Amino acid sequence: MAGFIDFHTHAFPDHIAPAAIASLEKDGNIKAYLDGTVSNLLASMDRSGVDQSVLCSIATRPAHFTPILEWSKTIRSERIIPFPSLHPADPQLLEHLQDIHDAGFKGVKMHSYYQDFFLDDEKLSPLYMKMSDLGMILVIHAGYDIAFPKIRRADPLRIFTVCRRFPDLKLIATHLGGWDEWEDVRRLLTGKPIYMELSFALDFLDQTRLRDMLLSHPPEYLLFGTDSPWTDQATTLKMLGKLGLPDTLFEQITGSNARRLLAA
Ligand SMILES: [Zn+2]
Repeated sequence: MAGFIDFHTHAFPDHIAPAAIASLEKDGNIKAYLDGTVSNLLASMDRSGVDQSVLCSIATRPAHFTPILEWSKTIRSERIIPFPSLHPADPQLLEHLQDIHDAGFKGVKMHSYYQDFFLDDEKLSPLYMKMSDLGMILVIHAGYDIAFPKIRRADPLRIFTVCRRFPDLKLIATHLGGWDEWEDVRRLLTGKPIYMELSFALDFLDQTRLRDMLLSHPPEYLLFGTDSPWTDQATTLKMLGKLGLPDTLFEQITGSNARRLLAA
């Protein structure tokens, strides 16, 4: 059997990593487990049995599109699957989506807080439509973010709305569909065919409740992710193991669901 796939990690170009990590640690009042470089992420993958990591970049300004795309090309490998980023205010949004697709990348990462937008903004409809047509995966930050005020930007209701408007969009809601909005997740998203990645749910949710939410969701729509370097991959995998999920479900979450999505 192939190894585990972590669907949510971050790293930065070597020369940017120290400053990026320091500034993100300060904003979120958290401590990174790694130094933010790709080589350090690979070492963590070796330690934890993670075969492949989806590496999500976030363009905090439209001008970051090209440098992120170019860097993504240089780091991609059997083990590192980069998802470049699009900024919603990019005047060439649709062309740039096409560029990402044409360069052979499977998906895109967007973050409502770092990119200052609301997930269900009508202005993004052409983007979501084109992503659906191209079969591109969209990984979004879901729920509140520890580094920002509690304004709802990518909450379970907006996720539900976008998924209803764009049923063919392969949207992946990180943090089990909405960090720190678990009530709404349970009410609006659990049980629906919406992809959820698990990072920061294992650490923040009561384990019985989390187990119940996972068992109530369509098993092919759950994905293991860590948000590394903000959690430790090995520890997060162990926490998932401790939930005592059925073996087949554990395997779907940690491997086969991601493999299927990335192969499409
Ligand atoms: Zn993240």
